[in-house]
Amino acid sequence: MSFLENLISNTIRPDVRAVGNYHIADASGFIKLDSMENPYPLPDHLRAELGARLADAVLNRYPVAAYGTLKQKICARLGVPDGYSVILGNGSDELISIIAMATARQDRRAVIMAPVPAFVMFARSAQFAGADFVGVPLRADFTLDLPAMLAAIAEHKPSVVFLAYPNNPTGNLYDAADMVAVIEALGETGIAVVDEAYEPFARTSFMPRLPEFPNLVVMRTLSKLGLAGIRLGYMAAAPALLEQFDKVRPPYNVNVLTQVAAEFALDHVEVLNAQAALLNAARTALAARLAELPGVEVFPSAANFLLIRVPDSDYACAKLFAHKVLIKNMGKMHSLLADCIRVTVSTPEENSAFLDALEASLPSY
Ligand code: PMP
Repeated sequence: MSFLENLISNTIRPDVRAVGNYHIADASGFIKLDSMENPYPLPDHLRAELGARLADAVLNRYPVAAYGTLKQKICARLGVPDGYSVILGNGSDELISIIAMATARQDRRAVIMAPVPAFVMFARSAQFAGADFVGVPLRADFTLDLPAMLAAIAEHKPSVVFLAYPNNPTGNLYDAADMVAVIEALGETGIAVVDEAYEPFARTSFMPRLPEFPNLVVMRTLSKLGLAGIRLGYMAAAPALLEQFDKVRPPYNVNVLTQVAAEFALDHVEVLNAQAALLNAARTALAARLAELPGVEVFPSAANFLLIRVPDSDYACAKLFAHKVLIKNMGKMHSLLADCIRVTVSTPEENSAFLDALEASLPSY
């Protein structure tokens, strides 16, 4: 073995060596429908104004670590209840990792739980923090299997349950009463993290319910609203709980350029919300068109993507790839997702290109 191979086997944890990379496809030259981004840029006049603000940003100093102005804008514009604040992350990915790090323990294996299939970072962050991940399968229609969730909570006593609302990759909203039953079952022994990455499209939220449940954390991101490039996530919870998570957060995790861009975007949040409304209408139109295709099943979605079952997801993805359309093949991710693909809702032109390429991939009857 070479020096580096020895070094790696002597130092890097076996479970880290065994795991694959978080795969991000090279999208150059493709219609990119794999990552639930907003296809619409900021309008030109706002981009010019943002450019001027960024030019004035102080780059030779560290960010002002309290992030006071940005936090206040988030609280005021995005519906954080009075008495609650937020902490910020380099995307909600970082917040998931902070939650896992703060809850994994040395004295016993902590369990982090989520209904599955779920966003893959829940399991990866749990693993890297040294916690066990327990996934509780959804029902075949992707609703929450409440009895199974309650039984798993009683058995494993999880420190954290992640509930994505709407869920990725299935796109649906769980029944709110089922969510409350999970939050209440966790009680004082577990934190319920409601991940509302797709809230701009779902337009329903647990944020106003924070005062009802002291063990509730509501996590969101600006990524899906149109700012995936700046990497800004935030989570709200009871101040005493946030204070604990804040200790684990790297001190200057949100950079100055992100801070300026996020504050600017929040000053113009109505522009982003209008884009989200446009994408919601496009989702309805795209779902209707897909439902007409033979052998295609479209699942209900409250997010900016659709989960679709096709006759053969490997074949469909290969065909779409050949047509320079990048989507996500979910067929191998979980048994409940057999032959499923996930596509981001985009502009009318890109949605049509996707439809045409998908149609070409279907067997002709
Ligand atoms: N949560 C869910 C459910 C997601 O689907 C995603 C992104 N795909 C994230 C969190 C992470 O978002 P970001 O790191 O861009 O804030």
